[in-house]
Amino acid sequence: MAYSDTGPYYSTGYGQASNAGEVPPTTTATKPHVCARCGRQYAHARGLIRHRKQCEGRYDITCLVCGKMFTRTDKYKQHMNNKHPEAVVTM
Ligand SMILES: [Zn+2]
Ligand SMILES: [Zn+2]
Repeated sequence: MAYSDTGPYYSTGYGQASNAGEVPPTTTATKPHVCARCGRQYAHARGLIRHRKQCEGRYDITCLVCGKMFTRTDKYKQHMNNKHPEAVVTM
């Protein structure tokens, strides 16, 4: 628990992840819990639940028509096409 002082002893990829929430994308087979917003994958539901709190905290796109919020432009465009096709005509 005390490797705050000179620790030349951390090699990569062993022990617990130092950066929880940062999981490199791997196969879905071992990580069935996928964030619907950003596509990040988790092996355990609790990891996904924790991630979703962060993920939902960084919306930067808001639908001008209904106010729904999105993290990704492609999701927003998809929403516009599905829900408000009349609003997409000229932008
Ligand atoms: Zn996410
Ligand atoms: Zn909308």
